[in-house]
Amino acid sequence: MAYAICTFCGNVCDDVEFDVNTQKGKKLCALGLAKFREKERIKSPMVDGKEVSYEEAIEKAVEILVSAKKPLLYGWASTVNEAIRYGVLLTEKVRGVYDQCASVCHAPGTLAVIEEGIPGGSLGAVKNRADMVIFWGSNPLEAHPRHPTRYSVMAKGFLIKNRKDRKVVVVDVRKTKSASMADKFIQIRPGYDYAIISALRALAKGEDIEADEVGGVPKEELAELAEEMKSAKYGVIFYGLGVTQSRGRDRNVENAVKLIQLLNRYTRWIIWPMRGHYNVVGAGEVPAWEVGYQYGIDFSRGYPRFSPAEFSAVEMLLRRDCDAMLVVSSDPAAHFPRKAVEHMKKIPVIQIDPFPNMTTLLSNVVIPSAVAGIEAEGNVYRMDGIVLRVKKLVDSQYWSDEKILHEMLKIVEEKLEG
Ligand code: SF4
Repeated sequence: MAYAICTFCGNVCDDVEFDVNTQKGKKLCALGLAKFREKERIKSPMVDGKEVSYEEAIEKAVEILVSAKKPLLYGWASTVNEAIRYGVLLTEKVRGVYDQCASVCHAPGTLAVIEEGIPGGSLGAVKNRADMVIFWGSNPLEAHPRHPTRYSVMAKGFLIKNRKDRKVVVVDVRKTKSASMADKFIQIRPGYDYAIISALRALAKGEDIEADEVGGVPKEELAELAEEMKSAKYGVIFYGLGVTQSRGRDRNVENAVKLIQLLNRYTRWIIWPMRGHYNVVGAGEVPAWEVGYQYGIDFSRGYPRFSPAEFSAVEMLLRRDCDAMLVVSSDPAAHFPRKAVEHMKKIPVIQIDPFPNMTTLLSNVVIPSAVAGIEAEGNVYRMDGIVLRVKKLVDSQYWSDEKILHEMLKIVEEKLEG
């Protein structure tokens, strides 16, 4: 057994073990184990369905990107920071658009944070100190299975000696699996997150609300929750896509941040998104180091412009505003709206990914890569922004994303300078 760091979800569990020979693991949840175990791979680089060498596939990919007027470079949430950095530089060189998976999930939260900032903290602080934890529109037991045991529910810490020291509340539109581990489950009507958060803000300030219920929740229950939140010593709201992708979107998060700011007049509270892919935080942080923006960045004028309503991948494809696409460790063909995928079918698509998926079927150039955390190393951001270095456990025939993108960048620079 070798110590490893799991590269599946945003928990990035750094206490796991895996034996590549027996394919057995320790402390890996079912999702993590499935990632670590061998499965079908893209066997070889391909151009138009024909097997070629890495060099030939990269040459063709570069030719497509350099001759495009406005290429879209998308994905990035399931690779390491080093590869993302080359991806951002490559996008700038080819005057394309950089977008990442968050634009279809947690991006509204990013907009809210730009407006309001985020009163955040690490998962370590939650484990050690949080005596009240609210999961709002998130379902950790199914999406981040070890989050409750490692950090937020059953985890013991310096000040939290056992489960009874912590109150756990789940707020959601349906009774999810995670509701079963909560001390209290509050079922809300879909689309009423904003109104309920506003009611909690009023009640926490000691104001009355006229309505007897808000979003399906009786006023008394909301008043009790507001009081419990004020009485906690250290509380956290972990919000999920139920908040960012329902009516209100970024305004829901902005309102929740304001609630946390208010609670911090009485006690200590933090708020944090439950990020999905293992390095979706890096997919935003790395371009932010380079150009100040996290997603939806257009370089076509030679300088970065941030406008998610125009430059997120789905919008670009729906407007048919890109004439080539590079997809790194993602599967937009399976998840994007049908009309967006129809445009993908009409333009040259390059895919870099360890595993075949729906996007492989419509890609002109397919470049298989090593699996980060198993066959390649690199730095990633855990969901709370803590950087961890994922390890290489075995040698492989596959090139890493970092090497592939570095090669592409070098050739692009040669072509543009020559
Ligand atoms: S919780 Fe996430 S990071 Fe941890 S083992 Fe499971 S899939 Fe991997």
